[in-house]
Amino acid sequence: MPTIANAYVASSPTSGLEPGTVERRDSGDFDVRISIKYTGICHSDIHAARGEWSGINYPLVVGHEIAGVVEAIGRKVTLHAVGDRVGVGCFVDSCRDCVNCCEGEQQYCLQGATSTYNSFGRDGLPTAGGYSTSIVVDENYVLSIPDGISLQDAAPLMCAGITMYSPLRNWRAGPRKRVAIIGMGGLGHMGVKIAAAMGAEVTVLSQSLKKQEDALRFGAQGYYSTSEPETFEYLKGQLDLIISTVSADIDVDAYLSLLALGGTMVLVGLPSKPLSQRAWSLIAMRRNLAGSKMGGIRQTQEMLEFCAANGLGAEVEVIRAGQINEAFERVLGSDVHYRFVIDATTF
Ligand code: NAP
Ligand code: ZN
Ligand code: ZN
Repeated sequence: MPTIANAYVASSPTSGLEPGTVERRDSGDFDVRISIKYTGICHSDIHAARGEWSGINYPLVVGHEIAGVVEAIGRKVTLHAVGDRVGVGCFVDSCRDCVNCCEGEQQYCLQGATSTYNSFGRDGLPTAGGYSTSIVVDENYVLSIPDGISLQDAAPLMCAGITMYSPLRNWRAGPRKRVAIIGMGGLGHMGVKIAAAMGAEVTVLSQSLKKQEDALRFGAQGYYSTSEPETFEYLKGQLDLIISTVSADIDVDAYLSLLALGGTMVLVGLPSKPLSQRAWSLIAMRRNLAGSKMGGIRQTQEMLEFCAANGLGAEVEVIRAGQINEAFERVLGSDVHYRFVIDATTF
């Protein structure tokens, strides 16, 4: 029998989120039913709930930073057991057959991975995210949360953590690599912690000096305000890898000028308007401009083990469901330290 779970629902781009319910499918043979304990608020939830991306269907339940406990399993499930601490990130299924799925890069599935919300599952029903009390997910798309990380600190790792870990790993952050993170919000603060734990020399490029003390505590060695023109003079040609988490328009040429020979700037933040940059900014120093989307299941599990081994988790502010709309405004105002996490008992 399908079950009805409490949820916070957006009924239109302007409605805000209101209490409601969502139907969860009956657990199939390979499904895991998860009692959600905490869900992080990713900036993408705000873009989606407010219809800032095309193709958003309402009513919509967002949330793809889910941490909880396994409540029930299908009869053929082998990867998880009742009582296990588990997580779910940005996607809940993929074709499992294309070259990217076979490489463990399900987020780049050629058929399109099934997003945790605003997608359609194999059953043809719309998917609904983690702003809810429970969720049913195929065992292959469920992560194991290591003992060393609390569920509330682990929830944001499911998106923010892996979205930063993946480019840091893929572009080989480590000793003697000079890495800069632009924007120290949910993604950015995890980027600082993870890059520092990988042994890289980490610099934060933030709009103001307000978060400097926190950045140094997370492991950054340098911190600069992007509103000071001297920052761009001082750091010219000094960086090997820059990751931008900013969702507003940014001056890509100015940031590219900070890269040394062969350096790479990776975009993970999603500005709503097209970006532009001069070819010369790349050509002048054989620089690269790239993008990166979340991470596959295997790399996400690797990230969780890495975080546990290095004592890393997100810095969270736990809120009640009734505070979500206010929290959205605070995220938009860069007033979050550094991820809001919703206590799922309050949905
Ligand atoms: P967030 O918590 O709001 O952090 C973004 C940070 O960007 C802010 O804290 C702020 O840092 C900086 N910022 C904000 N407005 C700015 C402006 N006008 N100019 C310059 N900097 C500004 O958001 P998030 O959850 O980390 O997500 C960031 C972006 O990544 C969103 O667009 C989200 O949709 C996207 N995202 C992408 C992926 C992916 O797979 N690629 C995954 C998840 C999220 P300072 O205060 O330090 O300046
Ligand atoms: Zn996200
Ligand atoms: Zn695929």
